[in-house]
Amino acid sequence: MAEKEKKDLIKKCPYCTTPLKVEDKLCFSCKKRVGPPDARGVATVPGRWKSYVYLLLALGLVVAYFQFVFFR
Ligand SMILES: [Zn+2]
Repeated sequence: MAEKEKKDLIKKCPYCTTPLKVEDKLCFSCKKRVGPPDARGVATVPGRWKSYVYLLLALGLVVAYFQFVFFR
C-alpha cells in the first residue's frame, strides 16, 4: 500500500528520467516542461499530447467527410 502511494507521488522526466514530484510542471534538471504522469509513471510531454489531439481531430474530420460522401 505504501509502495503504491509512493509511486503515485513520483513521476519520471521523459527527457532525462529524473524523478520529479507529480505536481511539478517543470523539470528542475533539464528545465523542460512536463505534464501529468501516464500509466507507467513517466511524465507526459504537453506539446506531444496536444499534437495527438490535433491528429485525432483531423482523423475525425476525414471520417466525417467520408460519411458525408458515401452516406448522404
Ligand atoms: Zn528532465
